[in-house]
Amino acid sequence: MGIWSLRQDRMLAEMAARQRCQNLAESGARAIAADLSARRRSSFSSILIDDAGNLAAVDGSRDRANSIDEVAPRVWPAGKLSEAQKIQWEEARRSEFEQKDDAIGRWRKFMESAPPPPFLAQARYDLALLYAGKSNSAGALPLLREVAGDGRASTESGLPLFVLAQYQEWRLTGGEAEAVCSNAIEYPSLITPVILEAGGSRKWQGIWNRDEAAREFYQRLRPQLTRAPLPQNPFWIEWDGADWVVCLSSTTASNQFSVAAFSPAEIASFAIDELYAGLPAYARAGLAVGGRTVLDERQSGALLGSFSFDDVTVSEYLARPRVLYADARRRTAWFAGLIVVSAAAALVGFVSAYRGFQEQVRLSEMKSNFVASVSHELRAPIASMRLLAEGLQRGKISEEAKRMEYFGFLVQESRRLSSLIENILDFSRIEQGRKRYEFEAVDIGALVRQTVQSMRPNGAERQVEVELRPVDAAVPESLVCDGPAMQQTLINLIDNAIKHSPAGGKVTVGLEAARHGASQAAGSLLRLWVEDQGPGIPAEEHGRIFERFYRRGSELRRETQGIGIGLTIVQHIVEAHGGWVAVRSAVGQGSRFTIEMPWK
Ligand code: ADP
Repeated sequence: MGIWSLRQDRMLAEMAARQRCQNLAESGARAIAADLSARRRSSFSSILIDDAGNLAAVDGSRDRANSIDEVAPRVWPAGKLSEAQKIQWEEARRSEFEQKDDAIGRWRKFMESAPPPPFLAQARYDLALLYAGKSNSAGALPLLREVAGDGRASTESGLPLFVLAQYQEWRLTGGEAEAVCSNAIEYPSLITPVILEAGGSRKWQGIWNRDEAAREFYQRLRPQLTRAPLPQNPFWIEWDGADWVVCLSSTTASNQFSVAAFSPAEIASFAIDELYAGLPAYARAGLAVGGRTVLDERQSGALLGSFSFDDVTVSEYLARPRVLYADARRRTAWFAGLIVVSAAAALVGFVSAYRGFQEQVRLSEMKSNFVASVSHELRAPIASMRLLAEGLQRGKISEEAKRMEYFGFLVQESRRLSSLIENILDFSRIEQGRKRYEFEAVDIGALVRQTVQSMRPNGAERQVEVELRPVDAAVPESLVCDGPAMQQTLINLIDNAIKHSPAGGKVTVGLEAARHGASQAAGSLLRLWVEDQGPGIPAEEHGRIFERFYRRGSELRRETQGIGIGLTIVQHIVEAHGGWVAVRSAVGQGSRFTIEMPWK
């Protein structure tokens, strides 16, 4: 479930990226397409084409449409000369051609016959050149000026005669070549390069070169322009050894349209801002115009979004997936951590619940063992007491000594029973938290001596000697404690020692004063110990034997009597007196239980 939702998370991140990149691609494509059309007229390579498909103007700033129209070849009205004029015209030309002296006279005569304007202009021009050839500037200049002033004058072959006249005038007079060059360019013809070279102006030469380039460019474009309908979207042409993107657009003026050409680098340079504005760090953008790639920053990675508008295509690619999935990865790590933590918590919970359960099972097992032990411990003495009492009742035992022995047994058994019952009652009080201690000054030495004495018969029963070490003189006369409880403690310890002693063994009890720490006053302790020569207790069980109901060995193989609460009661009593109980024992080396408590 967690893994599924993490996968969903990754997919959502990718979907959001795709959506965002698609939107970016769309706005980018629209903006770049708009940019291309906005730049059409301002671009350097903008040229105007008229509706007849002729080149109308180059570089938008200079409108030369009309003038260029004028230089289109026109039919000379040769037929308008009279027969006499025709003859005069032919003769004047021939003698000029043959460089005869009468050429001047003939041209003058022809001019006097008032010929139509084109012929008159040509005659004036030819006459002016003849005068100039004879160094007669005064004769040539007025004629040249007259022709130069007539903007419509052209030669038979269509050359702009007025430009030629202007040129000749400049050659005769010198001065500014500006007007001559400008007109030569404005009215382009075969003679323009000659005039520009003579004029020697780099500026006009440059303008001419650019116009020539534009005309050449236009020639390349012509096949596209004569097609109908005109291409609306950008398209590519090859010109001057490079590839160009061409955009056509109608102009507002008349039915002309303008052409703009961009090199791919030029488009990339103004599109790059648009492409990268708001582009997320994980993406790269690519641009194609007119079906050809202008900018491709794909590097690697999947396509996230792509949009085409007017054949301007913007594509977004996933270049750095690590960046895109960084958030998803962080969430994955958190989530995985969470899963691990909750699994661990569940495991801990499970283990502790299992342990608790095991503990309960063990406790209830021990409890039922306890009940069985108690019944057993009660039944045995009661049965033997009944036998003894019945024997006495029937009066069969006549010997006095025997009777006394029976009475002694009866007392012994009933003592053991009451001690057992005392233990059970005490344990029940302890369990219910009702156990109260009454502290008073007790002669501890006497209490120990008396208790050891009272336990000797129990020992004797199993051939175990119970010995009391001489009481330490440093032990004070009285100890503030609960006397009966202290006695019960000692009885339990001695009883255990006797139970676990081999026949002929010895149980030793000691009472001494001890030091605890360096300071004499603060460290005065009472130490009471019981030692036996029994089988001992392995170290790993030293803690457990104080647990309630705990008895060593399996229930079936247990040789010693007992119900598993003796040491529990000992520990409770000793701790209630501010002391502690410890065991020192090893298998095969007997046991020594030591109680230490502070003097009060
Ligand atoms: P029980 O009624 O069984 O004696 P206790 O709480 O007094 O119960 O003792 C718990 C267990 O400790 C006993 O079952 C016994 O195995 C072990 N134990 C107690 N005292 C001695 C001892 N002196 N020597 C060997 N084992 C002992």
